[in-house]
Amino acid sequence: MTNPILSNWTTPFEIAPFADISDDDFAPALDQAMTAHNAEIDAIAANPDTPTFANTVEALEAAGAQLDKVLSVFFTVAGADSNPKREELQRVFSPKLSAHFSGISSNKALFERVADLWARREDLKLTEEQARVLMLTHRGFVRAGAALDGDEDARMQEIKSRLASLGTSFTQNLLADERDWFMDLTEQDLQGLPDFVVNAARAAGAEKGAVGPVVTLSRSLIVPFLQFSPRRDLREKAYRAWAARGANGGETDNRDIAAEILDLREERAKLLGYDNFADYKLETEMARTPDRVRELLMQVWEPAKARADADAEILTRMMQKDGVNGPLEAWDWRYYAEKRRKAEHDLDEAELKPYLQLDRMIEASFACANRLFGLEFKPLNVPLYHPDCRAWEVTRNGRHVAVFIGDYFARGSKRSGAWCSAMRAQARFPKEQAPIVINVCNFAKGDPALLSYDDARTLFHEFGHALHQMLSNVTYESISGTSVARDFVELPSQLYEHWLEVPEVLAEFATHAETGEPMPQVMLEKVLNAANFDQGFQTVEYVASALVDLAFHDGDAPADPMAKQAEVLAGLGMPQAIGMRHATPHFAHVFAGDGYSSGYYSYMWSEVMDADAFAAFEEAGGAFDPERAKALEDNILSTGGSREAEDLYLAFRGRLPGVDALLKGRGLIAA
Ligand SMILES: [Zn+2]
Repeated sequence: MTNPILSNWTTPFEIAPFADISDDDFAPALDQAMTAHNAEIDAIAANPDTPTFANTVEALEAAGAQLDKVLSVFFTVAGADSNPKREELQRVFSPKLSAHFSGISSNKALFERVADLWARREDLKLTEEQARVLMLTHRGFVRAGAALDGDEDARMQEIKSRLASLGTSFTQNLLADERDWFMDLTEQDLQGLPDFVVNAARAAGAEKGAVGPVVTLSRSLIVPFLQFSPRRDLREKAYRAWAARGANGGETDNRDIAAEILDLREERAKLLGYDNFADYKLETEMARTPDRVRELLMQVWEPAKARADADAEILTRMMQKDGVNGPLEAWDWRYYAEKRRKAEHDLDEAELKPYLQLDRMIEASFACANRLFGLEFKPLNVPLYHPDCRAWEVTRNGRHVAVFIGDYFARGSKRSGAWCSAMRAQARFPKEQAPIVINVCNFAKGDPALLSYDDARTLFHEFGHALHQMLSNVTYESISGTSVARDFVELPSQLYEHWLEVPEVLAEFATHAETGEPMPQVMLEKVLNAANFDQGFQTVEYVASALVDLAFHDGDAPADPMAKQAEVLAGLGMPQAIGMRHATPHFAHVFAGDGYSSGYYSYMWSEVMDADAFAAFEEAGGAFDPERAKALEDNILSTGGSREAEDLYLAFRGRLPGVDALLKGRGLIAA
């Protein structure tokens, strides 16, 4: 019998036949699909004919269709509905898959064919999109080291494997430090803490086998503790332990690991012909050069620091009123900022929640997409992997566009956070394929299900990613939808969050679950103002981390990363009461793997663009200006990675983004 994952799917819109698939099907399907993919790759590499775009690049695009099917089903359920069996499969699959893909990118015969095409690219009469796919394919091989020979090749393999194991050690040390430390609290120490913190502290105590409640170093517990505990001595003790993660000496100390990682990255970049690791890393990004990143971050840094310094004075005076003398310290900031927030714009979550019903917020996200892009959504009754999942058919002018799936509720089998993925990405080659896109969130269930304001933003955010997939209109899957530079991919999602804040959207869809009344104006204003609170602090702690990350990789690797960190912070005039959001010994974004190394800036880069892009609508005549909407779809949402991100943005906006809209949005300069 054919494995149901590899069979032809005869379901509506060829959605995976989840009901027919059992966990035992995954391992054999994966092995079979990898074998098939390897055979396809070998055939392309061994083709005796002269390389052509069709027999090499297009053949590579078409290869691995079975593997795509297996992975789309597996990653969907492994992330959103896991179980011990699926967890075990994931542990087995992940090294197999990385070996599989690195085998392809280091296949010399294959690389020679691609390199031959690249050398003759001017004579191949390629379309703009084909030229782009050839460039990306070639660049991918070169960056993976396929052009290296002999000793250099061997050294590259050594570096990669050493970096992988250092990244794992870094993560494990950090987890160990976070797991091992906790601070016992007496009943008296709990005074002043709100119920949810007390409950979390008790639950953490039970989990650690402690006598009573405890504070741990988990962000979700220590941050509210620092925010609410009136006990300055306890805040200091907890903060110091939190800041020392990965730098406690002994076996779990990450400082030497960080130094070795930076050294190896530099060597790797130089082997590949780059001046330094940041040049290598940023080559594929919209920012392109370290100087452009630094320039942008510094434009944000100055006003953020000015705001933070002014806020520090206010908080210091509040602290003095409490009878505490001396400077405001890092363990004081959150506590006094919370007091100030409560005094200045207290927003009662309990009062707000009934206005944010999940179903109405889904409707709101659809209604905006209808007004902007003419999309229509019709519920679709298809079996999926969990009864909580819902599906819609998305059409425009009566024509099928995509299937959209929403899996909104938290459950034990789902990993935390929220994400969007394409179970099938849009493409026209080798055959027309319409996207199937899923948004996964972790909202609390209820009848009706009610959201916090952050939840509602998350819903719009993920739906923005979904639009990027659903409106994609390119030929090749490798550049479709969200297959764009990392510092560009959050533009559509963060941009879409702005429509939630459009007063007429909230007025229509934020209606009270019982009375049906729209949200009162006062509450609406409070919601919008609360979003800007304490942005001096938040911007400073983030930008400081991003600048240290950049300094580590832009130039020779520092022999002592901690000294380098101190030097960068001193140069910036880092406010004394604000710590880096992630200091070096626990900066997992940068050291656990390569993902965000010299790339931590990208969150802010995207935010600069989304603020600037939404300003384009406001300047043009409002949030639903039809010409702007068309320009957004034509130049950004439909184009995937078919052109350089900078060119796409220029085509949409007519100029590159400036930081003013972001600074206004964060309340760091006057609107
Ligand atoms: Zn996102």
